[in-house]
Parts: sequence; C-alpha cells; structure tokens
Amino acid sequence: MLFKDLGLSDEILRAITDAGYETPTPIQEQAVPYVLMNRDLLGCAQTGTGKTASFVLPMLDILSHGRARARMPRSLILEPTRELAAQVAENFKTYGKYQKLSMALLIGGVSFDDQEKALDRGVDVLVATPGRLIDHYERGRILMSDVKILVIDEADRMLDMGFIPDVERIVKLLPRLRQTLMFSATMPREIRGLAEKFLMNPKEISVSPPSTTAETVAQALVIVDARDKREALRKLLNDEQPSNALIFCNRKRDVGILHRSLSRHGFEVGALHGDMDQFSRTATLESFKKGEIKYLVCSDVAARGLDIVGMSHVFNFDVPINSEDYVHRIGRTGRAGKSGRAISLATEDDARYVAAIQKMMGKPIPRIELDGLTRANVEITEESGRKRRRRPSRRGAEKEERQSSPAAPHPAPPAQERSKPAQERRPPRPQAARPEPRQPRPEAKTQPKTQPKAEPAKPSRGFGDDTPAFLLRPVKVT
Ligand code: AMP
Repeated sequence: MLFKDLGLSDEILRAITDAGYETPTPIQEQAVPYVLMNRDLLGCAQTGTGKTASFVLPMLDILSHGRARARMPRSLILEPTRELAAQVAENFKTYGKYQKLSMALLIGGVSFDDQEKALDRGVDVLVATPGRLIDHYERGRILMSDVKILVIDEADRMLDMGFIPDVERIVKLLPRLRQTLMFSATMPREIRGLAEKFLMNPKEISVSPPSTTAETVAQALVIVDARDKREALRKLLNDEQPSNALIFCNRKRDVGILHRSLSRHGFEVGALHGDMDQFSRTATLESFKKGEIKYLVCSDVAARGLDIVGMSHVFNFDVPINSEDYVHRIGRTGRAGKSGRAISLATEDDARYVAAIQKMMGKPIPRIELDGLTRANVEITEESGRKRRRRPSRRGAEKEERQSSPAAPHPAPPAQERSKPAQERRPPRPQAARPEPRQPRPEAKTQPKTQPKAEPAKPSRGFGDDTPAFLLRPVKVT
C-alpha cells in the first residue's frame, strides 16, 4: 500500500515525501483510514512503529477545515512526559508544514506566560501533559468545550505514572460528542476498562502482540557481581563501540553516580532524569540527538517513545523491575527497521526480574560472557534472589527515586501476577503521584508517601526506621 491510497490530502503527502517516507507502516495503514472516517480508535502498538504519524497525519487533514477560537483548542493530545509531548509537537511541525494550523505545547517546567499567549491566539492542536493542562484550566486560561478530537497516547504509561485520575478529570471537561483515539503499547485490563469508558464503538487495531520486543533488536544478558557492574559496562562500551547509546539505571541517584564514573573514565556522557529542570533536560537531549554526547545515562524518563535516529545500543545498567519497562527501554534502538543491540547487566539478585521479562517475552535473553567478570552459575528463575533480598530502608534510594521521579513508576509485579486485580497487587496510586510537577508547587510535596517495595513490607511502628534527629541529640539533665 502507498500513502496516496490512505485518503490523505496532497499537502500531507508532500510533507510525507519530504520526510523521506516511502510506504506507510502497518499501524499507519490500519489507523489512518479509520481516523479520517472520524471513528474512535483503540490502538495497541509499540513505540517505533510509526504510531505518532498514524494519528497526526489524519488529524491534520480533519482539522484543516475550520478555525480555532481564543483559548478553545480544537484538538487535544495527552502525553505522559514532557519529552514525548515535545516530540509529538515536532511531528506536527514536520507533517503540517504545508498547512496553516496552529499548535501549542503545554508542559511543565517552563513558564506559563508563553503558553498562555499561545492559547490566547487560538490553537488547532494542543499537545499537553495532564498536570500542566489542569493547571491552565484551574487558572481559567483554557476552555475545553470545543475539543473535537482527543488523543490519549501511551495510556499504559499514564496508568503507571498515576495520571489516570487527571485524565479522567480532563475527559469530563470535553464535549461528549468527539472523536477519541487511545494508544497503548500494552493492553492490561485497566487500560481496557478505560477504553470502555472513554471510547465509543472503537475500531481496535494491533500491530504487534502486547509486550513483544522488536525483531530488529539483538538482546544479550551479562550476569556479574554488583561490585563489577561499572567495570563490566566500561568493557562492553569498549568492546561494542556503540555509535550512541542510552544507559538505563533504575534510580536517579545511580544515574548521577554512573554519569560521574563514566566521565571520570573519559567517556563522552550526559545524564537525564526526572529531577533535572526542564531546561537541562531539553538541552541534554538535544546534545545527545545531535551526537555531541555519545552516551546518555538515564532513568526511565527516556524509556518511552523517545525517537533518536539510528541509536545503535541500549544498555540496562540495572534490570528494570517492571518487565514492560524492559520492552520500552530496548525499543529505543532497532527503530524504523534498523538493527540495534540491547545488553542488560544483571546481578544474582536481579534473576527473578530477568525471569519475569523472559516469561513475558516468551523467550530467553541470550547470555554472553565477559572475560573474568561473568557469573556463570546463576540460575534465572522467578524464585531467585527472593530470600536474600533485603527490604530497602525507608530512607533508601528506591524511595528517593520512586517518590520523586517521573521516570520510575510503581514497580509492577512479575508477569504472572498481572492477572490479579490491581488493588490486590499494588498500593492505590495517590492522585498526588505526579511525575509532571505542576508549577510552582514544589515537587517533593506532591509525591506519594507510599513506599513501593519489591517485597511486601511489615508495617512499621512508631517512627519505623526513621529516628528523628531530636531523639538522637544528647539529653542534658540538670
Ligand atoms: P513512532 O513510533 O511514532 O515513534 O515513530 C518511529 C520512527 O519512525 C520515527 O522516527 C518516524 O519518523 C519514523 N516513521 C514514521 N512513519 C514512517 C514511515 N512510514 N516510513 C519510515 N519511517 C517512518
């Protein structure tokens, strides 16, 4: 099939040709005609499949008729992270270059003023993260009653990040008569439930089974001692000679530590995590995209949807606790038909997470040896590491990351537990678990107080592990 068979306008076809695309990807082939027919759509698609263009292209054509009024956007695209929102906004510029549609990007971490000015001018397309959108709404700067098309992108990520209450609130502000498109890389039961609530008689399309990894990514696993991980990573970087790579850590604190360590060893490296201010996040990402930085140590803030052309490698310095994060992380390479390589470093304690990933993918990750560093005798089973694992202290780094990071959603259970109702397997997500901080409220105050743990924790009494400083002070008896 060719793009011209999809019913798109000449302006869009010209922009597609300029972008260098020859044929539509499977999701574009399936989605575009239905979106053009104004049907609701539930799309199950991995990142890297051309999903963004599958909704952006037809939306541009639908919106080409009509004009936007001040503060009343005509369409709304909700994205879980600022980076994804910015990327979708870029897509609108690329594909809409021969049309005169206006667009605004509402994301946290940047000033309200410019965003308000853009809203006042009237926008056809609004790309937003839920928190910042609600902030604008609460300030009375935006009316949603003219939104004709709603896109909820990366719905499973929204769920993981605790955004669903915000999304539900936003949907209630929209007209009931609208077109809704919902995309999710995976289709857990919770997402199906939301689709039933938000969509009317949707056309369902799926371009690859949920939770599969692209065939274009060659995966490998190295099992090492925890103290050898950095050396193992350096060896891998030297052996593999990536042209560029993302290096994922589970915790923001470890992103900083690894970044400093690699810099000290002379690697061209940057760092990206959710506690950085938006200016630094954008600047770092830009340098990485331009090739000024070869390696980017990052938390899961970079795992979803980031589209960096021709990324040769992804390294998991830590095995992700949530199996689906593995799929998203390694999906940053092997994109658009190019081959890529994804290498994970695991310790004995990570074996059960590796087992859950393998179970989800339905195949093992091939193990490779690193001279003198590999632990050959570690068994990958779902039970491994369970008994040895200590509960992280309440002041532990996990808490630090989980409470304040957009990068780190609640750890999901191994795949076999996914069939249990959500309330059985994880604590309720407080609405305040807002990775996208609303300005100017300080992020720390809006984070959940719950402590996600790999193991169910015993309830702590009194101050638990936290002894307040005043109790530690010597008491003067007079
Ligand atoms: P996405 O899944 O939307 O993140 O897109 C992944 C990558 O595929 C992006 O770099 C797009 O520019 C690229 N892409 C989208 N559609 C096509 C197409 N039809 N042909 C080639 N590349 C495409």
